[in-house]
Amino acid sequence: MQNPGWSLVVHGGSGVIDRADLTPEQDRAYRAVLAQAAETGAAVLKAGGAALDAVEAAIHVLEDDPLFNAGRGAVFTAEGCNELDAAIMDGATLDAGAVAGVTRVRNPISAARRVMENSPHVLLIGRGADAFAEAQRLATVDPSYFFVETRWKALERQLGREGRAVPGRPAGADRDERHAALAHDEGKRGTVGCVARDAQGHVAAGTSTGGITAKSWGRVGDSPLIGAGTYASDASAAVSGTGEGEYFIRLSVARTIAALVELKGLSLQAAVDEVVQGRLTALGGHGGVIAVAPDGQMAWSFNTSGMYRARISDRGPLEVAIYKDEP
Ligand code: ASP
Repeated sequence: MQNPGWSLVVHGGSGVIDRADLTPEQDRAYRAVLAQAAETGAAVLKAGGAALDAVEAAIHVLEDDPLFNAGRGAVFTAEGCNELDAAIMDGATLDAGAVAGVTRVRNPISAARRVMENSPHVLLIGRGADAFAEAQRLATVDPSYFFVETRWKALERQLGREGRAVPGRPAGADRDERHAALAHDEGKRGTVGCVARDAQGHVAAGTSTGGITAKSWGRVGDSPLIGAGTYASDASAAVSGTGEGEYFIRLSVARTIAALVELKGLSLQAAVDEVVQGRLTALGGHGGVIAVAPDGQMAWSFNTSGMYRARISDRGPLEVAIYKDEP
């Protein structure tokens, strides 16, 4: 039976996130931004807005906050740059858009949406994608906008572990330093994402990331790849992933979850668990997903020690969680 209500789930990345790692101040800061993102998306849905608009609005909050590896606060490449990836998908039409390796777009999720709506393509990369975003009059920034000191330190540590040279330090613009200093190193990674189901019964998914610390050679992960880190279909589910992209790509994680719902009739929770706890774990990959179904079911699953996450619906209050032992 169709449920006329709405639901929304956000994530802010998975990884090594143990209770003992986060100070009470960090814990509070992460929960506050997750709540703000979920409530921003929920406000769109409560007003009868589209799932796609809710996803974009919620992701803006997470991209603009330096605590998360997306937009400002993105991790650095081995060359000392920030190269951002994002994707968005509309479950009602199967329209999708994505960008990879952009360096000047303030909100990569909006560039992905413009690719979907204003170009005949699905995925644009690098300089071309930056130029497209500029031509679309999206907000662009100097690359120093993305600089956050804690991410730079994480790059230095990672390159040190790999025995690689540390590049020259870029001109930093670490505004709002006190808040940005609370960013926690999840072990190279992080990502943000949102899935939503609107009152019309449509679902949408979006994912935005800086990728992995010290990535090289134009590495692109699963986040901007439709079917891997991001997927949405009104026939099954909307899914956004976070984790080791190379594993998510090879397992087509997001589309496989949708296929288990659509073709095998699994419940949403059974489908996310089968792929994350089952297939991803068996292959040796780490990460997690969030999902919603057109009937309003919400689910998440991860095999890491934590995943920043929040969910809210017309049927229940906001829930925010970080660690594995939380419901
Ligand atoms: N999935 C992202 C990537 O591989 C990273 C993450 O979610 O932690 O680019």
